Amino acid sequence: MKRLLLHICCGPCAITTLTTLRDQGFAVTGLFYNPNIHPLTEYARRRDGCLEVAGRLGVQVIVKDDEYDPKVWFRDVAQRETNRCFHCYARRLERTAAIARKGGFDGFSTTLLYSRHQKHEVIAGLGRDMATKATPFVYHDFRQGWSEGIETSKAWGVYRQQYCGCLYSENERYARLLNGPKQTANSARPETEGRE
Ligand code: SF4
Repeated sequence: MKRLLLHICCGPCAITTLTTLRDQGFAVTGLFYNPNIHPLTEYARRRDGCLEVAGRLGVQVIVKDDEYDPKVWFRDVAQRETNRCFHCYARRLERTAAIARKGGFDGFSTTLLYSRHQKHEVIAGLGRDMATKATPFVYHDFRQGWSEGIETSKAWGVYRQQYCGCLYSENERYARLLNGPKQTANSARPETEGRE
């Protein structure tokens, strides 16, 4: 059975992704590495949601709390905020690919491919760019299982976030509440319930 390292951004996005990869025959290990999530209390809630889903599905997760350093993440995006999602994806995928290579995994992937709110083609392109022959990027359009993932996360009572993750996206969420539905920056559209 092929071993795959899956970057996980949160619990709800992990449900369909994990079950799909398992159905495809992969032995999956999760990786929770998300220095983009602010503040720390929100990071902890999403991490715990990820661990709850993994526990229900019998999946082990590597948790990189020791690498939760928002300063490093902010340095990545400073002065290039309009393109911040690219750099945010890149940091998380680069770390996932590096750990997968070091750990001798047969491939890597990410739950970011599940979200309809993320820039799907950018994520897929970055993953392919970081792939090596020994450690390929495993692409699948997990958005096909979007509704199923949402329904299951609600049934399981898994924490469902209200903004993408960074301080900018949280600010945009509240700016919308103050200013109406107008878009204020480059992150994806607002949600009133869940933001997977
Ligand atoms: S909006 Fe989401 S993907 Fe984009 S930079 Fe912020 S946390 Fe990262």
